[in-house]
Amino acid sequence: LVEGRTDGTMTNSKPKAVPIVEVMQRARDAFNRGITKPIEFRRKQLQNLLRMYEENKGAMIDALHKDLRRCKTEAILLEIDYLINDLNNTLYHLDEWAKPTRPSKGFVNMLDDVVIYNDPYGVVLVIGAWNYPLQLLLLPMSGAIAAGNTVVVKPSELAPACSNLITELLSKYLDNDVVQCVEGGAEETTELLKQKFDYIFYTGGSNVGKIIYKAATEHLTPVTLELGGKSPTYIDSTVDILVTAKRILWGKFINAGQTCIAPDYILCTKEVQEKFVTAAEKVLKEWYGEDPQKSPDLSRIINNRHFSRLQALLDADRDRIVIGGKTDASDKFIEPTIMANVKGSDKIMEDEIFGPILPIVPVENAYEAIKFINEREKPLALYVFSLNKKTVDNFVSNTSGGGMCINDVVMHLGVETLPFGGVGNSGIGAYHGKTTFDTFVHKKSCLAKNFSSIGEKLASGRYPPYTEGNLAF
Ligand code: NAD
Repeated sequence: LVEGRTDGTMTNSKPKAVPIVEVMQRARDAFNRGITKPIEFRRKQLQNLLRMYEENKGAMIDALHKDLRRCKTEAILLEIDYLINDLNNTLYHLDEWAKPTRPSKGFVNMLDDVVIYNDPYGVVLVIGAWNYPLQLLLLPMSGAIAAGNTVVVKPSELAPACSNLITELLSKYLDNDVVQCVEGGAEETTELLKQKFDYIFYTGGSNVGKIIYKAATEHLTPVTLELGGKSPTYIDSTVDILVTAKRILWGKFINAGQTCIAPDYILCTKEVQEKFVTAAEKVLKEWYGEDPQKSPDLSRIINNRHFSRLQALLDADRDRIVIGGKTDASDKFIEPTIMANVKGSDKIMEDEIFGPILPIVPVENAYEAIKFINEREKPLALYVFSLNKKTVDNFVSNTSGGGMCINDVVMHLGVETLPFGGVGNSGIGAYHGKTTFDTFVHKKSCLAKNFSSIGEKLASGRYPPYTEGNLAF
């Protein structure tokens, strides 16, 4: 038994647990009844969702603080306002995105109707991750609703306050047949994956991503896999190093480095490394004071397992630490830390760090940096800081990754017209803005012929008996 709705009434508290097969049946029946088909129904649900965000900002900020000690500014900027902006954009464009499109057509189909319908898939499963527990679950969910699907959402069990809040709020604000919440971890997700969903949208690590993908093949269910990886950051000597340091450190230390597109490591020459470390020291002191543990602006590590993992990374290469390095297990606190003169073979360079530790790997030049990147798995994001167009072009043309941001980090995520997603080990598919809507619809092609005699004549070459003269070429 897992958390889910038992009935269709509005409640003020968390709904009772129901078996997953019932959750699935309910979602399937609702879709088959066609209640999500009318655009006005979808619009109403999205408006309710918007009201849910507006009326529960305080509760969402509290839940994020409980789970991650997230400060209010980051909670609003990176989750709540982000969700609100995305929803407003979807509501504004919903009619335009949902309507069928008519592509260009050839001479033979001159008199026919050629149409692409945006068909909802049916029942969608959205599995969220803990690091941005609201945004990563609710944004794809709202896209799935906009596209006319019924949805089962599975929040991450590692952010329990957010998981509880989501379950309670969704049952209160949205149609209980159209959106259902299943709480739990691996066991519940395994059970969910046995069901025949029409689309699965997963955010999380690559290892579990492979489990999801494998389970989806059983039913030939299409997937989006939003995964992670080590996102490299190259800096050359042409840029303003203080501004560069500020941008990189902000992107690295928001949410204590637990961000899928956080710059994972830096590649630069030894000279740039020295300047960067000096600038970083100044910036970090300015932002977090003499004792960063006392700063209200630094999140904590999600749980003891991840804390120990990060502690082990620090302990493996203590001599590389040039800034920070302090930890406190009782507070799950890790000081913003920079490691210098790191080698590609060091422990810290093995897996995605997903914590507030920033290693710098010295390289001779941009070519060596590109080689270093290409010898590893394709990252989710790739960052280049340079005023040299040729250098930037070199990275654009000769590396592969989910997305790029030049002279900044993370900010490309906020451009709603840019699809966001990985490639290779960092993911399959993309979302954000219209791409989210398109993710959750099947583009159903339709050719509608008529019985006009000219049309029939134009296409009559297909009928036997075949003669060469029948062919138009
Ligand atoms: P995770 O892989 O541990 O868990 C993600 C989800 O999978 C959770 O809902 C969890 O309950 C479920 N799960 C865990 N084990 C499972 C199993 N054995 N079978 C089925 N389901 C299971 O990921 P995480 O630790 O929550 O997230 C961290 C990773 O996610 C990082 O690699 C990060 O880069 C990536 N991430 C990617 C994005 C993106 O948008 N691309 C965003 C955030 C995080």
